[in-house]
Amino acid sequence: MKRNWLYFGVAGAVALALLLWTANQALETVMDPVDGPSATDSASLPEALPVREALPFPTLRGPLHDTSVPPPLPTDWHRYSAGGTNRLAVLLTKTDSAWLGLAHGLRTIGVPFLLTTNTAQALAHRVVFVYPELSGAVLDGTAIRALAAHPRTGGSLIAANVLGGGLEDLFGFREVVASSSHYEIGFATQHALTAGFTHPHERVIRVAEPSNPSAIAGKRHYTGPVVPPLAVYEDGTAAILLRPWEAGYACALGFDPGYLLTIGYHNREEGIARAYVNQFEPSLDVLLRLFKELYTATAPLPVTLGTVPFGRKLPVVITHDVDYARSVTNALAYAEYEAGAGVRATYFVQTKYLRDFNDIAFFGEGAVPVLQRLRALGHELASHTVCHSMRFSSFPFGTGTERFPDYQPFVRTPLLTLGASVLGELRVSKFLLEKLGGQEIVSFRPGHLSNPYSLPQALVATGYRFSSSVTANDSLTHLPFQLVYDRRQVAETPIFEFPVAIEDEEKPLLFERLPQAIALAHQLARYGGLMNILIHPDILGHKLQFEQEFVVAVQHFAWFGTLNEYASWWIARNEVSVDAELTGGSAHVTLTAPQPLNGLPLQIPPAWKLQSVEPAGLKITQTSSALIIDQVPLRVRLHFQR
Ligand SMILES: [Zn+2]
Repeated sequence: MKRNWLYFGVAGAVALALLLWTANQALETVMDPVDGPSATDSASLPEALPVREALPFPTLRGPLHDTSVPPPLPTDWHRYSAGGTNRLAVLLTKTDSAWLGLAHGLRTIGVPFLLTTNTAQALAHRVVFVYPELSGAVLDGTAIRALAAHPRTGGSLIAANVLGGGLEDLFGFREVVASSSHYEIGFATQHALTAGFTHPHERVIRVAEPSNPSAIAGKRHYTGPVVPPLAVYEDGTAAILLRPWEAGYACALGFDPGYLLTIGYHNREEGIARAYVNQFEPSLDVLLRLFKELYTATAPLPVTLGTVPFGRKLPVVITHDVDYARSVTNALAYAEYEAGAGVRATYFVQTKYLRDFNDIAFFGEGAVPVLQRLRALGHELASHTVCHSMRFSSFPFGTGTERFPDYQPFVRTPLLTLGASVLGELRVSKFLLEKLGGQEIVSFRPGHLSNPYSLPQALVATGYRFSSSVTANDSLTHLPFQLVYDRRQVAETPIFEFPVAIEDEEKPLLFERLPQAIALAHQLARYGGLMNILIHPDILGHKLQFEQEFVVAVQHFAWFGTLNEYASWWIARNEVSVDAELTGGSAHVTLTAPQPLNGLPLQIPPAWKLQSVEPAGLKITQTSSALIIDQVPLRVRLHFQR
């Protein structure tokens, strides 16, 4: 539904506005399911012009500083070029490729890697990933011959798009054929590397929209595979070849994984996903987990990072969108229950100080004690915009001088909002919540998950750090990811996105979907995907009951925290570097953690025995699959007997 709306041009929107104005009820059925409460009593609200009421908080004015947004600074691939030879080496054969998506994905899944354009440097690593292409067009004969020898001498060679160079025998195929019609990849062959892919949406992943597969460019298949392919397209042709060699593999992918990751991370999947929300859609996660399995199976010292604090199985972040008059007081009932259950949640609050089409001005003096109580109970206050417009994604960017009380956005109809801007929504809501709630505001979620292309840089410029503005299904991933400028450029921003897994507006009622939500929690717990649950506190009843029973059902394996807590941990983990070397029978692992973090899970081979640690006295606990470092200092050395 949301996608259909995005396709409307301005002209179409204007033409439809009149029709929809008189058909608000019909509109309810086509709105984005992740949305404000649909039960607003809009009949009693003004539909024409702003009502000039006295604004609340007469002594407040701000923010007083202006916001300026610097131009994009392209990210240099050298940012990811440091590290030792135990890492996965990505041999970058085209620097104008989607390598940033691949780099972000490998960080997310916790595989230590580096990028290089130098074949000899790459071949010093046991595991080499040639990206985005292996051919005579991008590598000379000497380099190709050296790469070809690597699997025959104990290394592993993974390559996206093997297009030439006489390597058919090495990877085990006859020809590579462009095949734009393909849209699904299935792991048809039983193999240890893919044994963890047990759900139907893991056994078969989506790489294009079935009705428009050629929209995703660059897909190919390999003919005449000499061993059964690891994965095939929907017509049975080979998508991923995996030929065993001495101690490793030659693995050829018939697609560009960085490009696929980029499509999901940029929220441009355009119909690839099998659902919009509430389902399990791990297409990108499966690819990342496959790379992690390949690395773990073939690296000399396979040490990787887990995705959940303290080695728990599932990170759960409960989020509430307070975007309706009654939600303000209802929020306290959720908050008191959560505090009693030891759960800290995130409250995305709309600072609605103007009455409009949507609702009355519920963000006034009466909201202040609510904010302060939420904070006192340990919850996070976050921004859910000022005016909660469906049109947020097409708002003008703004001047960076918007301030309360002069900034007066007015939602006149679902398709028409006056006087609003992206920067205004971000600046003014943050200012009011900080002044009145007494907590720094770092997390943002737009109404209707309406997502402007300029959002990443706008968030940076206005002082936010975390976004929860998309669904996991719509992003093809249940793991967090780093946003780039304009959701398009090769220019990283420091903003990370934490997508919504479960929401409360799709039918049937949320409580009736409890078994499916618990089932999703178990699917995600197998690899540490994020369970970000959105519950509007517009009612208590079955929604509160859902939350209570969900918490009980998962608390024995889940970690709970606010978005700020999980995201801060995630970003610190993202900067952790992992290197390892071997002397005699001992493995020496070096971690560098530029930002402090607690409860870092280090995944090591089960047979390894920890012998000593520097600095001495670090608290470390060992679980069946990971070593948990309680408080991670800047640099840690771990010595293991293998
Ligand atoms: Zn909302």
